[in-house]
Amino acid sequence: MKFKKGDKVKVIAGKDRGKKGKILQIYAERNKASVEGINLTIKHVRPRKENEKGQKIEFPAPMNISNLMLLCPKCNRSARIAYKILTADNKKSKVRICAKCKELID
Ligand SMILES: [Zn+2]
Repeated sequence: MKFKKGDKVKVIAGKDRGKKGKILQIYAERNKASVEGINLTIKHVRPRKENEKGQKIEFPAPMNISNLMLLCPKCNRSARIAYKILTADNKKSKVRICAKCKELID
């Protein structure tokens, strides 16, 4: 999974194309993510007791991550994610960098 919870992304396809938001939840096994304010869907909640009203709850439905692009927090452009291997204390770690400005994202 190239995205992480909390990443700012831009929608590049579908009904919300061009909108921006923050990733709220990642569903790695389904290659989906839910994004704040994007792909809003209304869910009807039935009343659980008598005299209680049913409710409509609006929530962002998970969408395919191939429709999302990262918004770089450094240069503020939508960018491809590149990877870089860092070595510190003889430990190697893979970090994400912006393909445009080469700044570290993680
Ligand atoms: Zn950048």
